[in-house]
Amino acid sequence: MAEGRIIKALSGFYYVSGPEGTVQCKGRGVFRNKKIKPLVGDQVVYKADNYKEGTVTEVKKRKNELIRPPIANVDQALLVFSAVEPAFSPLLLDRFLVHVEESDIDPLIVVTKEDLASEEVMKEVARYKAIYQKLGYPFYVVSNTSNKGLEEAALHFKDRITVIAGQSGVGKSSFLNALVPELNLETGAISTHLGRGKHTTRHVELISLYEGLVADTPGFSSLDFQEMDESELSLYFPEMRERLPDCKFRGCTHRKEPGCAVKEALEQGEISESRYNHYLQFYQELSEQQRRY
Ligand code: GDP
Ligand code: ZN
Repeated sequence: MAEGRIIKALSGFYYVSGPEGTVQCKGRGVFRNKKIKPLVGDQVVYKADNYKEGTVTEVKKRKNELIRPPIANVDQALLVFSAVEPAFSPLLLDRFLVHVEESDIDPLIVVTKEDLASEEVMKEVARYKAIYQKLGYPFYVVSNTSNKGLEEAALHFKDRITVIAGQSGVGKSSFLNALVPELNLETGAISTHLGRGKHTTRHVELISLYEGLVADTPGFSSLDFQEMDESELSLYFPEMRERLPDCKFRGCTHRKEPGCAVKEALEQGEISESRYNHYLQFYQELSEQQRRY
């Protein structure tokens, strides 16, 4: 018996990376009847029949489970944006961040195409960088063509399972390709995987990168707030969450209530206007959604 991590699931086989390399495993019959089905990212116990074939016998308790891409035990979401083409979108970033916070995953923000952006655009990006860094979110501005800033960002992969998200064309595949040019085969594979249409069903694979595991299929892109209640929303804005105990009213929504610590912080410039405005916008979306049901 050994313990390892499922890094790929394909045609009924689980590829488990363990102490002695990767073993192609069958799932024990018991998984067929139970609700628990082994997932990529699962930490499992397996029995190796020989050096490359074996059987998964137990799935360890999961920390979390994403639906798209279907991966268990995700630690981090790499949120890729570009400075230009398409333009950096703080609104989309805040949407991603609400989902990341809700799923109890850490964000890693990367803005690409530094080499293409004007000085003016870069100033604006730097202004946002300061806002997000103050919130404790790692934020890197990189160029996939000159490789500037890539390594620094990639150090965050260490010892974690990372999924990648971002609009098409922001440079997700270029980022990974720039990081692993020496792994020609994998790089090509990454590139075609990431380039595939969102709705094609295919297998997901975790790739070893900078001492961590990175999903080769982007996801995390279902950005409508599905089962969230608007009253929870401020819990996913860390700068609001930390001030909630200081609001005069319990259950303060930080909109019009008197004695609101969030509005006070906003007036003093301690909370960013763009973040607060996005909060109001999401709050509105959520309450309209509630009314529809
Ligand atoms: P994806 O859809 O997010 O995977 O984006 P791609 O990696 O396919 O990149 C989209 C386009 O932007 C491609 O033509 C890339 O060559 C280009 N690109 C990506 N990153 C950069 C960058 O940092 N600088 C420049 N100049 N071009 C980039
Ligand atoms: Zn308040």
